[in-house]
Amino acid sequence: MSHEFTVIKSDKPMPDEKREEILKSPAFGVNFTDHQIIIDWTKEDGWHNARVEPYGPMLMDPASAVLHYGQEIFEGIKAYRHEDGSIHTFRPHANAARLQKSARRMALPELPAELFVESLKQLIQIDGAWVPEPVNEKTLYIRPFEIAAEAFLGVRAAQRAEYRVIASPVGAYFANGIKPVNIWIALDSARAGRFGTGEAKTGGNYAASLLAQGEGYENGCSQVLFLDAESHTYIEELGGMNVFFVYIDGHVVTPSLDGTILHGITRDSIIQLLKDRNISVEERAVTLDEIRDAYNSGEITEIFACGTAAAITPIGQLKSRLEVIGKETTEAGELTLSIREELTGIQYGRVADRHNWLVKLS
Ligand SMILES: *Cc1c(COP(=O)(O)O)cnc(C)c1O
Repeated sequence: MSHEFTVIKSDKPMPDEKREEILKSPAFGVNFTDHQIIIDWTKEDGWHNARVEPYGPMLMDPASAVLHYGQEIFEGIKAYRHEDGSIHTFRPHANAARLQKSARRMALPELPAELFVESLKQLIQIDGAWVPEPVNEKTLYIRPFEIAAEAFLGVRAAQRAEYRVIASPVGAYFANGIKPVNIWIALDSARAGRFGTGEAKTGGNYAASLLAQGEGYENGCSQVLFLDAESHTYIEELGGMNVFFVYIDGHVVTPSLDGTILHGITRDSIIQLLKDRNISVEERAVTLDEIRDAYNSGEITEIFACGTAAAITPIGQLKSRLEVIGKETTEAGELTLSIREELTGIQYGRVADRHNWLVKLS
């Protein structure tokens, strides 16, 4: 299909003063911009009817396949305003490729990458005023997603699907400075098994993580660390973030992508930035036993998690119903902070974009 989008403008966009009020300190995922992108897909006609519509509730048949068999995939990407007022996004072609990969795994249609990037441009063109000023790491969080939209209770890949993009302004993930958070090790559940859907960015993986996340909250932890489903020996990732370990001799270790771990774009970018600094990065299997010994002995000096939402999150202690690993700390590690500064610096246009990761949206 061509990249022509039909535009239906909202006749009741949020008044400027109200939007400005929200943009002062936006909470994550609560307020949405005035418009959404919608593209339909059918088995007969492929992708068609690309459009910009007012944001609002959607009418759905209660037999829609997504509601019954969970055929859903999504992306998370941000729009960053630079000092000069221009608006950029970070590595959108990587997100486009990942959405296609998730689609293949979940038997959904693959959206062409150019259409993905164009959909972001269309949304920012009309809702650019929703991208906050670049202070306190404020951004517009963009959520592209795809669902099976066929009204049919038979079990097979849906023959109708819908791609949509919505967006929500977000504020600093760390309200009071970048402080380490404790994480909960899930010992009684796993998020993804071998040959399962761990590499797909699909809602079901998140549903599978929520029970352990509840346990984590009850134990003062804001995120959950998952081990491999088969042997419960190897560290995989957090519910929605990849993880890195910094050793005292300077090298960095992160679990290799073994088929069950989400291929984080932040993870990939951090590996590149570390290599640019001539820091050795090992992508390999990492056991909980290794991490326990090395973190308790001081051989591991820093642990951090990463993902688009919070960029880089320093980690303090690892806790489970059996143990506490690591010392109590209120300070983020040095490498954690400096890599974070470099990555967010590139995203907000304060640091040279030497890998051409930014794409201008407006
Ligand atoms: C989205 C996601 C990540 C982080 O990916 P980024 O591309 O860095 O945002 C990590 N793990 C899971 C399970 C995710 O869904």
